[in-house]
Amino acid sequence: MSYLDHLDEFQCQRCLKCCTNPGYIYIATNEISRISEHLNITEETFVNSFCDLIEKPRLTLKNKPDGSCLMLEGNTCRIHSVKPAQCRDFPTRWKTQDALEYCKGLQALFTIYK
Ligand code: SF4
Repeated sequence: MSYLDHLDEFQCQRCLKCCTNPGYIYIATNEISRISEHLNITEETFVNSFCDLIEKPRLTLKNKPDGSCLMLEGNTCRIHSVKPAQCRDFPTRWKTQDALEYCKGLQALFTIYK
């Protein structure tokens, strides 16, 4: 048994590393309306102001110049309650190969179940 067998016990430690590490956050089509509504803007404004189009036709959230997510305001996610599945599912449903090196929540599990 390893810590990976206990991901159902994962608790986010709010270190924000997954929000500040540079990378793509993909937006599914059905997430556009939910996020736009939450921000009280039109879908067109959301896509034009907050998204990049990469690997056509995939939309991603823009990053700030330092590589962190554009939705991060201080220690808070502007769209936390409606955040994309990619954010919601990390690191229990998917993770980067080096996630244990930066995710404090995984490190806490590893400490218990290594
Ligand atoms: S890296 Fe892990 S512990 Fe840190 S905010 Fe993201 S999910 Fe939470």
